[in-house]
Amino acid sequence: MSEETKSLNFIEQIVEEDLSNGLDKNKLRFRFPPEPNGYLHIGHAASICLNFGLGQRYNAPVNLRFDDTNPAKEEQEYVDAIKRDIEWLGFKWDKELYSSDYFQQLYDWTVKLIKEGKAYADEQTSEEIRVQKGTPTTPGTNSPFRNRPIEENLELFEKMKNGDFDEGQIVLRAKIDMAHNNMHMRDPILYRVLKKSHHRTGNNWCIYPMYDWTHGESDYIEQISHSLCTLEFKSHRELYDWYLDQVVDTSKLRPKQREFARRNLSYTVMSKRKLLQLVEKGIVNGWDDPRMPTISGLRRRGYTPESIINFSKVSGISKRDNVTDVALLEHSIKDHLNHTAPRVMAVLDPVKVVITNYPEDKEEFLDANFNDYAEGFGSREVPFSRELHIEKEDFREEANKKFFRLKLGKEVRLKNAYIIKAESCTKDENGNVTEIQCTYDADSKSGSGSEASKRKVKGTLHWVSAKHAIEAEVRLYDRLFNDEAPDGHKDKDFMEFVNPNSLEIITAFVEPSLKTAQKGDKFQFQRKGYFCVDDDSTNDKLVFNRTVPLRDSWAKKDTK
Ligand code: ATP
Ligand code: MG
Repeated sequence: MSEETKSLNFIEQIVEEDLSNGLDKNKLRFRFPPEPNGYLHIGHAASICLNFGLGQRYNAPVNLRFDDTNPAKEEQEYVDAIKRDIEWLGFKWDKELYSSDYFQQLYDWTVKLIKEGKAYADEQTSEEIRVQKGTPTTPGTNSPFRNRPIEENLELFEKMKNGDFDEGQIVLRAKIDMAHNNMHMRDPILYRVLKKSHHRTGNNWCIYPMYDWTHGESDYIEQISHSLCTLEFKSHRELYDWYLDQVVDTSKLRPKQREFARRNLSYTVMSKRKLLQLVEKGIVNGWDDPRMPTISGLRRRGYTPESIINFSKVSGISKRDNVTDVALLEHSIKDHLNHTAPRVMAVLDPVKVVITNYPEDKEEFLDANFNDYAEGFGSREVPFSRELHIEKEDFREEANKKFFRLKLGKEVRLKNAYIIKAESCTKDENGNVTEIQCTYDADSKSGSGSEASKRKVKGTLHWVSAKHAIEAEVRLYDRLFNDEAPDGHKDKDFMEFVNPNSLEIITAFVEPSLKTAQKGDKFQFQRKGYFCVDDDSTNDKLVFNRTVPLRDSWAKKDTK
């Protein structure tokens, strides 16, 4: 194996093998097949990166195919959201297609199956059908309708299509083998009656094909070379192949289904059904709530496409089910923002500082840059005046030597500004500090080159000028679940593990350069974390989301 082949994931290795066995490279074609019954989540991102990644590697087209065969759950809103999210991630699909485009073709193929004696109409209840399925160790039993004449089946199927049956009265089944060791092969259902309007075909149809019957045939119609799906479909592969056998023209490409492990994340639920529950029960404010593991939630939280794609790369494509630590996702965005987010100052939990020897009416505009580690943001002016805000936690009347922040009688440097010394403080009746009186060393201005400016003091604090700072709403998010595997408990519903403190809303003071910040802009609030401007922000009221703190507060909680 060459070095290059070794670094390929196992799906890429399968493609390589097919190519070396004679598959024409120009025939490679992939698809990403979401069902439009919810928003895309970080698990889908794994599938998107895999399929579109293959497209990029082999310069092959990738279709976006909406698997829309269940009108009861599907909506145009979801179609639009899915397209928006894939585009935002930066991927381009070749064709936008819908399984519903193939309803007529699927119907025609079904008629062919009936004519060949390979499908029949079954009027039993779903419960009767379920019982007859048998178990993995005992064979099923034949339906009493299994051997009804072809003519009758054709007639009944037509009637199903014409709306002569109610939902649940009848299904059309493939006639395969009720004793097959693979349960999926025991006369699976091809069609059911659903009297629901479809988001694209309206009321044209009142029978809808099942997933298994639709998926492989859609792959075949689109001439998809590799149909990649998650592991739970492995046992369906035999049926996928049986269905293809019924229609494939040997002069055409025959699609191949291969399976990879689902991406699971700790402290998260991922299934759309569960995410929908969180939305419907008002646990979160919609699919794009910044606490949701959806792509749109992550975007709103301040994640970048790069961080999500990088996370997918690092977590890889695996053959076996596993759980990825959510800390890896958080690390991925921290890493990207560390290189790209301008540094600014914001005080989240303020206490006032008065510099008693600084003239009352004076103000200065200090030179600061946005950079520190991030490159290319240039400089900004930060106003300084006699009254400032610092973080409450950065001051103590007394503290031991390890406290490098402000304490009575000691000095700290104010970032980009002067060295100050705490002289005294004022407290309210509960003993809370309400104001700290300080003096400053007028010669110690950062960057002035003076001896005093080079003086080393242990701590550097961020701050804002009280007069100039602007108020902003800041939304501090914590994990949505306080259990590592919220849906992994047999006897408890995942809803029992919702973290009741996943959102704290505070009012912060931010430096005035942020006045012009636009929705989606991302910053490092120095010493505090990464924050982005939320969609709710207006010209009159800035709203920030905390994307991720600088330190992992969760890890600390765990060790308590
Ligand atoms: P969910 O159970 O979350 O609703 P799904 O599999 O029903 O997911 P689809 O819209 O049918 O969602 O999925 C579209 C594609 O994305 C499929 O190929 C599916 O296998 C893949 N996919 C869905 N969830 C994950 C995941 N957690 N990890 C990797 N791939 C996923
Ligand atoms: Mg699905």
